Amino acid sequence: MSEETDVSPESPLQTEADADPAPLTIYDLLDEISNENETDILKLVYEYQVEEKLPCQCRECLLDITAVALNYLPPQYSVSIHRDLYITPEAKAARRVEVEAAVLHACEKVKIRPHH
Ligand SMILES: [Zn+2]
Repeated sequence: MSEETDVSPESPLQTEADADPAPLTIYDLLDEISNENETDILKLVYEYQVEEKLPCQCRECLLDITAVALNYLPPQYSVSIHRDLYITPEAKAARRVEVEAAVLHACEKVKIRPHH
């Protein structure tokens, strides 16, 4: 096999920036930004499910509990690579309390009025 098979000649006027025709957009970066409350609520709902602390584990109740808990807290967006860099242990503990309050509130609401 020849080493020269896929080498195409470049114009001497072409710069490195010209070589990438598609500019970076926010849609290319969406995986790097996330709502920390959403991440933490999903983790806790899963934890409660595994520990059998949810009032019901049917599809409707899982979705309702998660939606109610997500709506209970304001969004907390951050860039994923910076996520845990600036959070103190105290702030992390406070967030855990807020997330637990949201999930417990959701569990109570769904327990009283399930849609299944
Ligand atoms: Zn249910």
